[in-house]
Amino acid sequence: MSIINTIADPLAKVTARIQQAALAVSRSPDGVRLIAVSKTQPATAIKQAYVCGQRDFGENYVQEALEKQAELVGTSDVIWHFIGPIQSNKTRAIAENFAWIHSIDREKIAQRLNAQRPSDLPPLQVCLQVNIDDENTKSGVSLTEVSALAKAVSAMPRLQLRGLMAIPAAGNTAEQQHVAFAKLRNALIGLQAQGYAVDTLSMGMSGDLEAAIAEGATMVRVGTDIFGARVQTE
Ligand SMILES: *Cc1c(COP(=O)(O)O)cnc(C)c1O
Repeated sequence: MSIINTIADPLAKVTARIQQAALAVSRSPDGVRLIAVSKTQPATAIKQAYVCGQRDFGENYVQEALEKQAELVGTSDVIWHFIGPIQSNKTRAIAENFAWIHSIDREKIAQRLNAQRPSDLPPLQVCLQVNIDDENTKSGVSLTEVSALAKAVSAMPRLQLRGLMAIPAAGNTAEQQHVAFAKLRNALIGLQAQGYAVDTLSMGMSGDLEAAIAEGATMVRVGTDIFGARVQTE
């Protein structure tokens, strides 16, 4: 059993970065959950991270995720997070095979997920994706639309609204990263002030997790710095 685990070292480094970033702003590292983003990576890579104790994994492509879920044995306590754009014809597969969805940005998609979530499973834990830098090309609701979508989603019994997710513009300076993440935090505070029991800020990736944690991230989604560069381009 001398298989070399190539994920152990980078995973430990990312975990150490999360701890440092949290402690630097006097937050408890336990308040930041690491989602290992395994899109385009093989099931064997997921298994290696699992062996190291990692339990939360993020995927962007439904078909690819289902194939890997089927390949993985002895990992039934994995928590699967769907973090990619959601097509209408994929909602059933997502509702049946994921615990969390970070990328809800349309009421119609939320309605389908609510209708299709199997009754023997707990409600889907969901975040609304916000287009924080107002990029034309990016999914997500604008900040002004967050409140209306939150109202609609919170009325859906098979969805549990947990918070907000964002992917800031690529190429932001460190200062711009902080500004973008602070906007998302303020949007979450706004929802809390309206009475929503939301507690999740899904923000921060390989290149900007420190800024995200400084601004209050409770979940960071890290792919490249755990698994290495992705083979496919997106
Ligand atoms: C791919 C992806 C990530 C991970 O990005 P890295 O830069 O590889 O850490 C995080 N969130 C979402 C939504 C993604 O699509």
